[in-house]
Amino acid sequence: MQIDEEIERIEEDDKEINAFIVLDKKGVSRKGIKRGGRLKNLTIAIKSNICVEGLLTSCASKTLENYIAPYNATVVEKIKKESGIILGMTNMDEFACGSSGETSYYGATDNPSAKGHIPGGSSSGSGAAVAAGFVNAAIGSDTGGSIRNPASHCGVVGFKPTYGVVSRYGLIDLAMSLDQIGPLARDVETSALLLEVISGYDPRDETSLNLDKKFYNFSKNLNPNLRDIKLGYALEFDMLIVDKGIKKIIHRSLDKLSSHGAEIIDVSLPNLGIALPTYYLNVYVEFFSATRKYDGRRYGHKIENVCGEEVLRRILLGSYISQKEYSGRYYRKALQARSLIRGEISNTLKDLDALIGPTVPKLPHKLGTKIDDPRVMYAYDIFTVLANLSGIPAGVVPAGKVDGIPTGLQIMGKALDDQKVLNVMYGFEKCR
Ligand code: GLN
Repeated sequence: MQIDEEIERIEEDDKEINAFIVLDKKGVSRKGIKRGGRLKNLTIAIKSNICVEGLLTSCASKTLENYIAPYNATVVEKIKKESGIILGMTNMDEFACGSSGETSYYGATDNPSAKGHIPGGSSSGSGAAVAAGFVNAAIGSDTGGSIRNPASHCGVVGFKPTYGVVSRYGLIDLAMSLDQIGPLARDVETSALLLEVISGYDPRDETSLNLDKKFYNFSKNLNPNLRDIKLGYALEFDMLIVDKGIKKIIHRSLDKLSSHGAEIIDVSLPNLGIALPTYYLNVYVEFFSATRKYDGRRYGHKIENVCGEEVLRRILLGSYISQKEYSGRYYRKALQARSLIRGEISNTLKDLDALIGPTVPKLPHKLGTKIDDPRVMYAYDIFTVLANLSGIPAGVVPAGKVDGIPTGLQIMGKALDDQKVLNVMYGFEKCR
């Protein structure tokens, strides 16, 4: 493959999509890559909140518009070691705060699979780059759905691993107790392979899990067999899906799975209704704390002076909640609510192999639609935040299209059941 020509082609085609903030024309990120590794011949794009040495790692914010990362994130090191060809840094919602890709300082990204609509976010450029065929795979981060949401809207595969399976070293935090890095690709096999490469114990990340080597053989152990697999579907999902077309596709997917031998079991998640406020309260506080280092002295500009509206909202609310914390009014309650949700999810999963359901309640809106109430944006995250609040693995596979717009089926598993989730995704992909 002629990388230079490839990048030129992408540069031309990306004028319409805006998936990339940086295309690495000079090959800074490809210096010293090994030959013949497991990712050989695969081109990869990296989300702009994951450090790639020598490249602008801006988090799509004016705050870090001049921040050239001085080191590689662990996942980047691992990709290079296995011969993955990094082509550049993708567009995203500013500091990963968003679900539409519209809050980037570098402008919104278009959805290659549904032109004129949002690609989803916050890993908007990663989803779009894969969907447009610019790269074989991309790396995203997922705090409340940011890999799965764009995977659903763009019609690609996305996977958020169990918390601690992939090192967060070199990932710029949104909310560190929820953030995980994961792959996006056009199929489950490539996603599993990329996950296999980027996962593993890393002493530089205190939350990294040290698991048996065999745990990480995700692509080798892929198995599409759905026979006798017990899949739970929560009745609350039906009530919360807004677009009828999505509901139809999800139910059609359930039928497909059951016709291939899976058992579909009705379950209930009565606390689903408090998931969004719980998630956002946690995020506000953690994000506020994470952004205190952007005071204009060390990294770029003082964040409050240059950031966009959504980032500022989170900083102000996080600051307010933190101040009020002596009375335990909000944050302590949010932590209690979080363990309630985690308990409910793990109880529900006890007798199941996985939970399945929608990824998003509604189809992506048209680019540029004016949305005044932030809660309208937050509503996209209702089904995805569950996995982050519980630390469990969750993946998305394309399930069909509503009026030409893709939507994905979400599969969530018990903590450390990453392989099982990938297998159900693989089985579903194969039975289409
Ligand atoms: N949309 C969610 C938020 O705005 C999720 C973001 C993410 O996963 N990075 O916080």
